[in-house]
Amino acid sequence: MGTIVTIDGPAASGKSSVSRELASRLGWRWVSTGAFYRGLAYVARELAVDLDSAQVLADLAHSKEWEVLLTSEKTKVLFRGTDVTDKIGLEDVGGIASKISHYPEVREALLGAQRACGAAEAKGLVAEGRDCGTVVFPNAPAKIYLTASSESRAARRAAEEGADPESIIAAQKQRDKQDTTRKAAPLAVPANALVVDTSEMNFEQVVDAVEKFVRGRLSSESQT
Ligand code: C5P
Repeated sequence: MGTIVTIDGPAASGKSSVSRELASRLGWRWVSTGAFYRGLAYVARELAVDLDSAQVLADLAHSKEWEVLLTSEKTKVLFRGTDVTDKIGLEDVGGIASKISHYPEVREALLGAQRACGAAEAKGLVAEGRDCGTVVFPNAPAKIYLTASSESRAARRAAEEGADPESIIAAQKQRDKQDTTRKAAPLAVPANALVVDTSEMNFEQVVDAVEKFVRGRLSSESQT
């Protein structure tokens, strides 16, 4: 297993783009753990399964109907062999993902596959999500928590989706509230994490700050 770096944070805080660029600079792979929740949410909706049944959802999480693939560009989801990555990115699927992610059974069902992404990487993996530093990879030597004002996060997602920022802001607030207040693995700042508020920073500045922190942590690890 290679080295793991985790990046957690609320909706649309830039975790995926920062993870992708950081992984590219380090020559590593990256994974969006949110893609697992979004993929399950999408498949559950397509198959019209009961979103209130934790056990049905956990069984679906283990089924061969869908799979997650790591690529340098995106964490992809295939449903019955068809690439549905573009569909899972929309805020409505994010809303279902947030709803089903509060079930401990669902989280447990997805955890093994998320950890396996780290085990499969000889060099290193940047893992982003909500509980990567607290639950999925608690022993990661470098942990980052990205945050930004709700306005700048909504503006970012609205521009990506071509949607109205007002409706996105409401949906994200709801999702952040659910993600921070749930009992199982709530969104939280991991101990010893670097916290970066990206509201007033451009993309280069964010990645530079994160890269500097990670390289510093990795070199102090290698000296101990
Ligand atoms: O990060 P992303 O917006 O793709 O995540 C979608 C949803 O999946 C989140 O709102 C959250 O409810 C859930 N999630 C989670 N734990 C993670 C990653 C995502 O609960 N590690």
